[in-house]
Amino acid sequence: MAYQTTNPFDGKTSATFPECDAATLEAKLQQASDCFDQWRTTAFAERTAVLAKAAAILRERPDEFASLITLEMGKLIAQSRGEVALCAAILDYYAQHAEGFLAPETLPTQSGTAVVESAPIGVLFGVEPWNFPYYQIARFAAPNLMAGNVVMVKHASNVPQCALAFERLLHEAGAPAGAYTNLFISKDQVAQVIDDPRIRGVALTGSEAAGAVVAARAGHNLKKTTMELGGSDAFIVLEDADLERAVKGAIQGRMGNAGQACTASKRFIVVEALADQFLEQFQAALASFKPGNPMDKDTTLAPLCSEDALGHLLQQVRRAVEGGARVVSGGGRADHAGAFMQPTILTDIDPANPAYKEEFFGPVALFFRVPDEDAAIALANDSPFGLGGSVFSSDIDRAKRVASRIETGMVFINRPASSAPDLPFGGIKNSGYGRELSGAGIQEFVNKKLIRVA
Ligand code: NAP
Repeated sequence: MAYQTTNPFDGKTSATFPECDAATLEAKLQQASDCFDQWRTTAFAERTAVLAKAAAILRERPDEFASLITLEMGKLIAQSRGEVALCAAILDYYAQHAEGFLAPETLPTQSGTAVVESAPIGVLFGVEPWNFPYYQIARFAAPNLMAGNVVMVKHASNVPQCALAFERLLHEAGAPAGAYTNLFISKDQVAQVIDDPRIRGVALTGSEAAGAVVAARAGHNLKKTTMELGGSDAFIVLEDADLERAVKGAIQGRMGNAGQACTASKRFIVVEALADQFLEQFQAALASFKPGNPMDKDTTLAPLCSEDALGHLLQQVRRAVEGGARVVSGGGRADHAGAFMQPTILTDIDPANPAYKEEFFGPVALFFRVPDEDAAIALANDSPFGLGGSVFSSDIDRAKRVASRIETGMVFINRPASSAPDLPFGGIKNSGYGRELSGAGIQEFVNKKLIRVA
């Protein structure tokens, strides 16, 4: 697919970028490899200066970066600004804490002394998605650059200007040539890069399908991977929940980023006692969303990232209905030019319905009513995914006990999922493996090297 900017609000293509030819790709790989030879030994203070400067630039000129997100994938402009601010926080977080996270660790031993050092491993390759065009790269690049690795990124083909803006940002902040490299490459070239002996680790954020292809290729080459894949997060509302808070959380959880988040709340599992009231208030709140230009700060419903994405979601809804689901809100394209989906609620989804196990990447909520807490947990766990999830209850100890029984990577109590630099992010089952962010994220691609003195 060509790398191009097509505004999902008006369908206009405003920029196209050619894919790398073989000689350019080879030169970029060699430059990254040469850069690693010096970057691996730069002092933490020098790496910190680069990342802190990049964070400062994002804070000084947020609109320059935010408007490209909205142009290329349609995010509401206020949310694009929020994403830019989060990236600045991630860059700063690793600038400040990396040295501590990677400090040599002295181990107690029976005799002699033993130390574990954390050494960089080389050039890393990331394959990244469009839904948070800077945040996804920041959480891969920031820890790894601070660890002394260098990174190359193949970004999604619909956000090429964001991809270039992030590369420029790091260069402007003082990163040497080759420390961060954007690659406009084909899927065949992705395979070639993974095979290249100069690449020592591979990270992918995206769909299960892409994850399976990239992880298999890396596995064939005995290269470590991290996989941040899809999710169908459960949003459990127990009978003692604060209903107003739960409905507000449901709206944020399902509608943020027009529903196109891996940790969006996707399956609403409500205990019978609150089910009717919750559904009625959720429906009413969803009805208030109005499509419009995402650059306009008053717009509440953003388009999906592309016509293709909308077509795919509409087809999933159609299949769900053919499988017996009932549409209680929305269900179709919104009455507005552009790739807009009506906020939608589907109910009566039985386990045989394909929707039961699918991820809906857009503003489509699957609603389930259950008799009690145990049934809610069982339903939450009956999923191929395990990324995030939420539990609403006014009894925090109870909510924690429920959280412990959910098979997933992250659980949020009395709020929808969210991400912060200091909280580990990642999943289990088909949602992938490995963690990004926090102290855990910086440990994924370092060599925990034992040095033992007799
Ligand atoms: P996608 O199609 O898998 O695309 C993600 C990236 O993978 C893009 O750069 C894409 O390139 C590339 N890609 C796709 N197929 C490939 C292949 N066969 N070989 C090599 N590269 C390949 O993902 P998407 O559907 O656009 O993004 C949404 C998915 O990402 C959802 O499932 C969402 O839940 C998941 N996600 C997960 C997380 C997380 O942290 N767990 C975060 C965000 C999103 P092209 O653009 O050129 O196709």
